[in-house]
Amino acid sequence: MAIKLFDSLTRELRELKPSHPDGVFRFYNCGPTVYAPAHIGNFRTFVVNDVLRRLLELEFGADKVKHVRNLTDVDDRTIGQSKKEGRPLAEITKKWTEKFWADCKALNCLDPHEQPTATSHIREQVDMIECLMEKGNAYRAADGSVYFKISSFREYGALSRIKERELKITNSAFDSDHKDSVSDFALWKAYKPEDDGDVKWPGPRGASEGRPGWHIECSAMIKKHLGETIDLHTGGVDLLFPHHENEIAQSQCCNGQLFSRHWYHSEHLLVDGTTMSKSKGNYYTLSDLVEKGYSPMAVRYALLSGHPKKQLNFTLKSLHDAEEALTGIRWFQGLLSNAIDPTPAPPSDLFDSTLAALCDDLNFPKALGELHSAFTVIRGGGLPKEKISAHLSALELVIQVFGFKLEKPKSSIPSAITALAEKRWAAKQAKDFATADGLRRELAAAGWSMLDGKTDYKLEPLKK
Ligand SMILES: [Zn+2]
Repeated sequence: MAIKLFDSLTRELRELKPSHPDGVFRFYNCGPTVYAPAHIGNFRTFVVNDVLRRLLELEFGADKVKHVRNLTDVDDRTIGQSKKEGRPLAEITKKWTEKFWADCKALNCLDPHEQPTATSHIREQVDMIECLMEKGNAYRAADGSVYFKISSFREYGALSRIKERELKITNSAFDSDHKDSVSDFALWKAYKPEDDGDVKWPGPRGASEGRPGWHIECSAMIKKHLGETIDLHTGGVDLLFPHHENEIAQSQCCNGQLFSRHWYHSEHLLVDGTTMSKSKGNYYTLSDLVEKGYSPMAVRYALLSGHPKKQLNFTLKSLHDAEEALTGIRWFQGLLSNAIDPTPAPPSDLFDSTLAALCDDLNFPKALGELHSAFTVIRGGGLPKEKISAHLSALELVIQVFGFKLEKPKSSIPSAITALAEKRWAAKQAKDFATADGLRRELAAAGWSMLDGKTDYKLEPLKK
């Protein structure tokens, strides 16, 4: 099944395909800045990218996808936090990297194949800056910093469609003391003892000691770990400008090659209908929600419940709904596991429409809708025994692509009992109460009681 994603550069739905002769699909996702815990808005992007990774592996093969996500461990915010706490930069970034990894694990996100840090790639960044200076795309300013000369790259602005006039307005807020043009951006920042403490490295040839600007790290790490041209570059929509625009300028001017064949941006998360902020009291980290009693899997489900190209409104009620929906999925998995028939069966196509919706621009709301309708079909069809094992494998594949880690259903209920219960439930739904009562007696005689809920039932052994 072809995977199609909306490409932010060409503004059209395009099929994803590996472009390198080795058939490996190269995929880069901008990672977090490790100075504080990531909030659930950050995790929306990472969880969406995790499903994309799983889908790519399903399409191209697990060993034919290479996924890289960086960790920004030096910038104004990380240095600011280290100064505020009076602790070394590396200590602060290690602490928040570990927290980020623990949250990713709790949310069942696969580890990227590489997670490079900016501070361990200073050499690669300096090399790239020197390359840009040699080619005339960058210049040394009076204070020893290095800037990228935007006027040297004619295609600048193609991704964000930003016009020259807007560019000047947008960038004039940043320091313009040393730049030739207000829209130029920093590749290397000269050391300022009052701001940078003891954070500094030897600079590119001719420049002062200092530290890299933020944008160059992604260009340099992509080149090292994925090569000059990648198949897909993703991130939150807030990174589209200027970060990704600047990455394109740096990489294409240095390498002389197309940088990324496809760009994908996921939208913002709103909480209670508005942007998240600590002052509004609607700012959540994963730990905040776990402390309130919600499971990380419910958070994952809720983050996946909206279309990634649209803003998603997250509420605590959406977490309640997510917990319920996951219980439903687990329940059906249990139902199928209990009733499994060992006879080999042809593959089930029951969940094909769910996967098709995922492959169509990650349409999560449609995919989840199709998943829950498939359950209605199973139930309506009275579970023909010979199809159960095929349905179960197909369902487990879908659960795996969504990345839902579900507790194994406790399957101590014999299949004959489940079959009776299903028959009784169908009779009750059809308002055939006489048949339903008869079946309840049959179940009781076999030692089981059936507790009816609004949309489902539970089976429990009768106490002796
Ligand atoms: Zn980046």
